[in-house]
Amino acid sequence: MRFRPSQPKVLRSTLYNILTNIFYTGDFILKGTFYKGKHEPIISLSLFEKAQQVFQQVNRPKKTKKDFAFAGLMLCGHCGCSITGQIQKGKYIYYHCSNGKGNCGDKYIREEVIAEQFEDALKKLKLSKALLLDIKDALKESHSDEIKFHASRVQDLQSRYNTLTKRIDAIYEDKLDGKIPEELWFRKNEEYKKEMAQIEDSLRQHTKANFNYVESGVYLLELANNAHQCYSQRSIMEQRQMLNFLLSNCTLKAGKLDYIYKTPFDMIAEGVKFEKVSG
Ligand SMILES: [Zn+2]
Repeated sequence: MRFRPSQPKVLRSTLYNILTNIFYTGDFILKGTFYKGKHEPIISLSLFEKAQQVFQQVNRPKKTKKDFAFAGLMLCGHCGCSITGQIQKGKYIYYHCSNGKGNCGDKYIREEVIAEQFEDALKKLKLSKALLLDIKDALKESHSDEIKFHASRVQDLQSRYNTLTKRIDAIYEDKLDGKIPEELWFRKNEEYKKEMAQIEDSLRQHTKANFNYVESGVYLLELANNAHQCYSQRSIMEQRQMLNFLLSNCTLKAGKLDYIYKTPFDMIAEGVKFEKVSG
């Protein structure tokens, strides 16, 4: 980035234009039409889309009601109504049954008591280094067939690509020698180039998929492993998102939190538990 001395900052509007410009993903839009570019992408389409989602969230009107960290995340263990938050004495946050089916009589619980139990749930996903390595190896092993499939597909695509390159050269020679009419050369040349562009696209997809099989598994594992550490550094809204992502069926009964882990985190939690028991 370059700056003028009179204006040594990135303008908000400049930053906005950069972050909303699809050009950096390798594609572009010209006069309202979408084109696949030939330039090298510097960010992925999914990252671009994530950024657009953030803009949409920011532009949404802010809620005026106080957001309680755990409101709406849990149901009452007695009657099944939702648990809501409330401020008492101007500073203490309590949670209680919304009593949607009449007064169910469950206690008011301090936020700290619930927060501690949610944190415990995340701590239980922390794997030992040895177990983490074992699972990573198993993941790679279990996907070796897919990896082989992609590799052979990539080979086929590359050989077709080479064939097309040779054909383009050959028809060009034919055109120069007057063996084929200009019109035919033009049509064939376009046709081959179009197919080559498609192959380039497929090659990119296969490389990505190959990477994804193992990487997405490893990513989930690391996510689980770091969940507790990440959690404490996040905003309340992000913490809610994390809890929603990892847990389901959360209920609160007489101050005790119950929950189940969503798949595949249930398996990770089982693995951690098993390792602790078997030492
Ligand atoms: Zn209740």
